[in-house]
Amino acid sequence: SILGATGSIGQNTLSLISSKKDDFKVVGLTGADNIELLARSAVDFEADMVATADESKFLDLKDLLSGHNVEVCAGLSGILEVASQQTDWVMSAIVGSAGLLPGLSALEAGANVALANKESMVAAGPIMKRISEINDVRLIPVDSEHSAIAQVIRGEERESLSKIIITASGGAFRNFSKSELVSVTPDQASTHPNWAMGQRITIDSASLFNKALEIIEAKEFFNLSASEIEVVIHPESLVHAIACFQDGGMKAHLGPADMRHAIAYALHEEKRLKLSLDEINLADVGTLHFDKPDLDKYPSLKLGYEVIEQGGLAGAAFNAAKEEALDNFINYKLSFTGMADVVRATLDELNSRNELKNELVIETIMELDLLARSIAKKYVEKI
Ligand code: NAD
Ligand code: MG
Repeated sequence: SILGATGSIGQNTLSLISSKKDDFKVVGLTGADNIELLARSAVDFEADMVATADESKFLDLKDLLSGHNVEVCAGLSGILEVASQQTDWVMSAIVGSAGLLPGLSALEAGANVALANKESMVAAGPIMKRISEINDVRLIPVDSEHSAIAQVIRGEERESLSKIIITASGGAFRNFSKSELVSVTPDQASTHPNWAMGQRITIDSASLFNKALEIIEAKEFFNLSASEIEVVIHPESLVHAIACFQDGGMKAHLGPADMRHAIAYALHEEKRLKLSLDEINLADVGTLHFDKPDLDKYPSLKLGYEVIEQGGLAGAAFNAAKEEALDNFINYKLSFTGMADVVRATLDELNSRNELKNELVIETIMELDLLARSIAKKYVEKI
């Protein structure tokens, strides 16, 4: 099943399956507003079941699929219905914290979950890991850096690892000064120099909020401390992660800036199948650059490290405040640099109200998600 089948990751996953339709049975697909694409994908891949998150589109989706043997559902309950079908592999690729409950349902139903939805690891990593252990199913990283980490540490002992370096392209505004960032627009932030992705992660790449989420995701996936995770700016986006070992050796993963590489690795249980992706010609590339990120220019990254240090519910609060700030940037209600200010103010207020000391359980995370969004909204108006 593919949760978020109409998105960038979802469609890339389907494109990998399309050449091997005899090897896969697609059980369920989910989407939100793009029901035409959802219906077309369901027909093309003979899915048993589809769900749109948008309840008002239920009848239209049913119409689009009339005459086809596909069960149609809608709303969060519909998405959860698809996510909890018996299947051996689920791609969790809904964007945002909306992906948390569906991903958990898939783990609870006994599926191995390929996790693109980094937000669920950021908000609820310990819970995701516990449910996957209890059900004896795998949680497989899909984010390119985390897939790269899994690839470079494979076969190595945990004790031999001294740190992990993940790379950031620097996004759309790599060469902008801090003061130039104040007035950039959502349109400018929505184009990425190296990767084709959904709009939200593209903007998060430009602000480095994506990298902040990814260091938290790395902590959860690989049990690392803040001091064991380093970020470097690498404009070529060819090296995705580097494992550094006690003996001074380093193993880097290089791969095309194409998510099908990481998705295929997760889909084929770490077997390396032939893919027709662009080959990297190192002689043509010539030089690879690595720079230290400027934490003054990118306060988002500093916040990410603080969230790792704090642990517990800080990840859920950070992600929710970031999502609210991003919505407001996209809607021209907040400046690009204002996003980090809003997230910082929200975390400060939640800490001063002792809201982040509660137990890390799903109910608390869901309540905190709403609270953090409402506090962030208040700061959007003030900032
Ligand atoms: P996208 O915006 O292209 O697609 C998002 C998908 O989620 C769509 O299918 C959409 O219909 C669905 N969706 C949106 N809101 C929903 C809701 N409230 N309930 C249910 N479904 C909803 O996003 P994307 O770029 O494919 O990213 C998906 C996830 O993968 C994100 O968590 C992102 O951070 C992560 N990721 C993406 C890439 C990439 O290259 N695109 C790389 C690494 C990680
Ligand atoms: Mg990534």
